Amino acid sequence: MHTGAHCDIDFDLEGKQVGHVSLPYSVDRSPFFQIKLPICQIRNGDGPSILLMAGVHGDEYEGKYALNRAISTIQTSDIRGRLTIFPMSNGPAVLAGRRCSPFDGGNLNRAFPGDATGGPTLRIAHFIENTLMPGHDIIFDLHSGGTSMEFIQCGLCEVNSDAKRVQKAMDLLKMIGLDYSLLADNGVASPTSLAAAYRAGAVGISAELGGGATVTPSTMNATMMALDRLLTGCGMTMKSLLGNQQETSRETQFVRQAGQDHFVFAPRRGWYEPAVSLGETVEDGQLVGWLHDLESPEVKPVELFSSGAGIVAARRLHAHVEGGDSLFTLFEVD
Ligand SMILES: [Zn+2]
Repeated sequence: MHTGAHCDIDFDLEGKQVGHVSLPYSVDRSPFFQIKLPICQIRNGDGPSILLMAGVHGDEYEGKYALNRAISTIQTSDIRGRLTIFPMSNGPAVLAGRRCSPFDGGNLNRAFPGDATGGPTLRIAHFIENTLMPGHDIIFDLHSGGTSMEFIQCGLCEVNSDAKRVQKAMDLLKMIGLDYSLLADNGVASPTSLAAAYRAGAVGISAELGGGATVTPSTMNATMMALDRLLTGCGMTMKSLLGNQQETSRETQFVRQAGQDHFVFAPRRGWYEPAVSLGETVEDGQLVGWLHDLESPEVKPVELFSSGAGIVAARRLHAHVEGGDSLFTLFEVD
């Protein structure tokens, strides 16, 4: 009972079950403490098998809110197939409102495939990749930029050597209809949830839906739209279960990210001022911001330039920066 995970719902049962995955983690306050991660499975005969995940990062909220709503709203008779919902994957990080776990500093999206006898984050990763993911056709992991960053609304999949599954993932990204879709190449041994989905035999997609450790009506609408379009498009249901009434003809634009040239990093500690906005197109070598030294006002702010062309896909929100902080992320439009 000191390792692994215990799940109090039975994945083989038909119907709707809501319970917890519990991981033992002994702490000063409570020697037999368990980390509790909510889980829901709704199963109704034959049909598609979909896992919806959120809370891999604790300070990203669109996915958690949408999946909470899905758990309280969707009933067995609403669907066919198997729908599994895991809304706060890294529970300790969610409760702390942080990207990484307060227990071990673990970033769950860098922890796969995990370790059944490791620290809390590694154990959660191991449970997700080895117990939760297998048996699902499709896995959708919902993200946003987190406390320090905001993102354009963007779907994401990872390329691998299985051309059929990559094509299926691209078809799903077209289906969910976010403004942009990024094909990332992180390698199949990558510690991300998408590589874990691949290793578990599923088709994995993800999305970046907002940022700043908050949500807006616009980012929530996009999230609901993506989920409704996924569930209807895969034939799990005929109706909009999350009540999204947005148009169904939105088309996504596929984009690429060509490594280092598509990032602008802070060269040293200081205070940054952006010269471009989220979603704006920038040219190679364009002035994108300034780095101020507020302790040396006699020194002119350092000009910051892009080293590639593209649209501003993500930007840092916090003005104070350390050397090495990413200020802008660019996507190259095909
Ligand atoms: Zn994230």
